[in-house]
Amino acid sequence: MSYVDDVLAKVIENNPSEPEFHQAVTEVLETIRPLIEENEELYKKEAILERLTVPERMIKFRVPWVDDKGQVQVNTGIRVQFNSAIGPYKGGLRFHPSVNQSIIKFLGFEQIFKNSLTGLPIGGGKGGADFDPKGKSDREVMAFCQSFMTELYKHIGADRDVPAGDIGVGAREIGYMFGQYKRLTGNYEGVLTGKGLSYGGSLARTEATGYGVIYLSAELFQSHGMELAGKTVCVSGSGNVAIYAIEKAQELGAKVVTCSDSNGWVYDPEGIDVAALKEIKEVQRARLTEYKKYRPNSEYHEGRGVWQIKCDLACPCATQNEVFIEDAKQLVANGCTALVEGANMPTTLDATKYLQENGVFFVPGKASNAGGVAVSALEMSQNSERLSWTFEDVDERLQTIMVNIYHNMDDAAKRYGKEGDYVAGANLAGFEKVLNAMLAQGVC
Ligand code: NDP
Repeated sequence: MSYVDDVLAKVIENNPSEPEFHQAVTEVLETIRPLIEENEELYKKEAILERLTVPERMIKFRVPWVDDKGQVQVNTGIRVQFNSAIGPYKGGLRFHPSVNQSIIKFLGFEQIFKNSLTGLPIGGGKGGADFDPKGKSDREVMAFCQSFMTELYKHIGADRDVPAGDIGVGAREIGYMFGQYKRLTGNYEGVLTGKGLSYGGSLARTEATGYGVIYLSAELFQSHGMELAGKTVCVSGSGNVAIYAIEKAQELGAKVVTCSDSNGWVYDPEGIDVAALKEIKEVQRARLTEYKKYRPNSEYHEGRGVWQIKCDLACPCATQNEVFIEDAKQLVANGCTALVEGANMPTTLDATKYLQENGVFFVPGKASNAGGVAVSALEMSQNSERLSWTFEDVDERLQTIMVNIYHNMDDAAKRYGKEGDYVAGANLAGFEKVLNAMLAQGVC
C-alpha cells in the first residue's frame, strides 16, 4: 500500500464518525500524491502526513451561561489548533447548532492550505460552538461570548492563535469576546480579527473576499489572453461576498447580470445596480423581491436558476452545494469560460469534475476566497505596528496577494503535470510551503 493510502486508511480508522473530516483529508491527500511520491521514503520516515492530519492541539470545553429567564444553559466550545508550521494558528469561530468536532476539524484542516496560499505567515486553526445566536437577546449573546472566552483566552494570543468571525460570529460577537479577553489578561492586543474600526479593525476587510474573487478572476482571464472587461458574469448570493464581487466586477468593466438569496434570484440584463442591492440587503435587510422597485426592467424568479443564464464567468458566492451537475452542464452548453468560487464548497464534486473535463477553468474557494483571511492577516500586521493603513494601501496589497495566489496555483499545477487543474494546484502550492517549514523545524 502506498504511503498516501496507508495514511488515508489510518485517518478514517482513527477518527470514526467524522465524515466531513475524512472528505477534506481525502481530497487534499489525493491531489498532493505526486509530490509525496517524489520522495516517499523521506516523508514516511518523517511521518509528515501523520503529523499533517493530526491536529497539534484540540481544546473542547463547557460553556455555561445564563439566559434571560435565569435558566443556566450549557454549550460545547471547540478550538482546533491544526498546524503552526508557518505562523500562529488563524481561522474563524463558528457559532451554529450544527457545529461538531468533524466540521471544525474539516474546516481547520482546509485552513492550513488556504492560509499558506496567501503567502502570509499564518498557520491553520478553526473553532466554534453549538450555540445559535439567532433569536437571542444582546445580553444573552454577551453572556455566551464572555463565558466562551473565559476558557478560550488560556489558549490564544496575538502570537499564538488569532481567531476571527465565521457563520454566526460577526462584529457584535467579536466585540464581546475582545472585551472579555482584555479584561481577563489585561492585554490590549490583536488577538482577534474582524474587529470594529474604532478598536483595531482593518479598512477593506468588508470588501476583501468579494474583491479578491474578482482580482483573481481578472488575472486568470488575462493569463489566458482574455480581458474581464466586457464579459458577462453570473453571481449567486447577495451577502457580503456577493455584493463586493459584483461591485468590483462592474468597476473592472464586466457586466454582472444575476444575484440571488435563499428565496429567489434576479436577472438584470442591464447589469446589477449595486447601490440598490446594498440598500436592500445592507440597510433594509429585505428580500430580493424589492429589487424590481429600483429596476423595473429586471426579472425576479422564485427558487434557483442563476446558472441557466449565459455568462463568461460564474461566481457562486452564496453557500455550500449550490452548483449541481445539471448547472455545470448548462454552464458548459452556454460557453462559460471560468467558474471561480466565492463561497466555501459551492460546487458539488461531480459538477467540478464535469466543468474541468469540459474545458471550463475551475478555481476552488480555497484559493479564490482567500482574500478575506489575507486581509485578516493584514489586520494582525497593523495591530502589531499599532498603525492603521489606508483603504488604498490594504486594497493594493490584497490585489497583489490574489495575483500571486493565481500564479502559485497555476505554476504548481504545471510543475506536477496537472496544467489547468487548479484544485490540485491550490493544494500542492499550499502544501509545499508547509512541508518545507515542517521539515526545517524537526520533529515537533
Ligand atoms: P452572507 O450571510 O453575508 O450571505 C450569504 C448569501 O447567500 C445571502 O444572500 C443568502 O441569502 C444566500 N443564501 C444562503 N443560503 C442560500 C441558498 N440555499 N440558496 C441561495 N442563496 C442562499 O455570507 P457571506 O457572503 O459572508 O458568505 C458566503 C459564502 O462565502 C459562505 O460559504 C462563506 O463561508 C464564504 N466565505 C465568506 C468569507 C467572508 O469574508 N465573508 C470568507 C471566505 C468564505 P439570504 O439573505 O436569504 O439568507
